[in-house]
Amino acid sequence: MTGNATRFEDSGKAWALSSFTAEFLVRCPKCGAAALIRGTRLTCTGCHTSIEAKDAPQRATALLGNFQTGAGVKNWFGKVKPVLELKDGTPLRYTCKSCGKDLAAPSTRPNAANLPRDITLTCEGCGHGSGFAAVWRPAYCSHDARDPAFGCELYLQKTLRDGTLFVFNTAHAEALLQFVSADLREFKAEHGWHSYFTNLPAWIKAAKNRDTIVKALEGFKQGAKAYG
Ligand SMILES: [Zn+2]
Ligand SMILES: [Zn+2]
Repeated sequence: MTGNATRFEDSGKAWALSSFTAEFLVRCPKCGAAALIRGTRLTCTGCHTSIEAKDAPQRATALLGNFQTGAGVKNWFGKVKPVLELKDGTPLRYTCKSCGKDLAAPSTRPNAANLPRDITLTCEGCGHGSGFAAVWRPAYCSHDARDPAFGCELYLQKTLRDGTLFVFNTAHAEALLQFVSADLREFKAEHGWHSYFTNLPAWIKAAKNRDTIVKALEGFKQGAKAYG
């Protein structure tokens, strides 16, 4: 390597996607313009909608950590799903009330005011329909390119050949840009063996995609400029 080679030192401090949740740049659920989520509040730069959700930060933490405890669906703009859980939030599997077989997970649906209080699931084994009281929770998957606080579509996202590249905010774009554009990647984590960077999908780390991804990330930074 020449002296011009850029080096990226992974300290391991950004250990997961949850390291970039200080703010989210999303599409306003009302008008589609850029909106900023900070803490408990979503503010649209277009229609000036302002929505307060007191549990948004806790919801983001729970959803990024893959557990559901306490995550409500009020002011949640992503999809929702009915879950079966104990009072403390421990998830249970849906099982057929006639033959005891595991039932297929109920499908997700858009959030709405008239979500049913009860659902019926039909057993593929014996055909029996079992009724359950529905507890509605946010359905979240980071691959959906939505934010985990309000469930809105991320503003900074681009569909590339191998998948969707997305970032939560400018700092996230910058961190990813430094990683992707480096000639040398060194892992110097003091704690544990994984970080957000080591866990990235292979196509984001692949040398052949570097130019495309760098270009997209530069575009994100440019696009986010107006919204700080
Ligand atoms: Zn708006
Ligand atoms: Zn059954």
